[in-house]
Amino acid sequence: MNDEDRLLPWHEQSTAGLIPEAGNARKYETGGWRTYLPIRDGEKCVQCLRCYFVCPDSSVLMSDEGKVLVEFDLRYCKGCGICASECPPKAQAIKMLYEADLEKGGE
Ligand code: SF4
Ligand code: SF4
Repeated sequence: MNDEDRLLPWHEQSTAGLIPEAGNARKYETGGWRTYLPIRDGEKCVQCLRCYFVCPDSSVLMSDEGKVLVEFDLRYCKGCGICASECPPKAQAIKMLYEADLEKGGE
């Protein structure tokens, strides 16, 4: 076990609520929590980018030009479904699918 993986005793831990190192959430790949997977339908998507702004894990990726929505970052997407529920009703471009079924080849 390297030093980074060692569990810290209480007196070595930072005070609750403090973030001792900016950007440290990058280390916690929350994609492993996911049960449901967001799937975007490019035909229905109107590029409003609501999904980009509401995702709590910054898991909606855009192209460099900031125009074309590319994909979900599955290292961090935890399948909460906020993107799907905030996608405009007229578009309904994101479906949440049970990931275990997709792995078996179904929907
Ligand atoms: S919220 Fe829906 S319509 Fe808007 S960019 Fe995201 S997927 Fe497309
Ligand atoms: S399911 Fe949740 S975590 Fe994943 S992209 Fe949508 S809003 Fe972000």
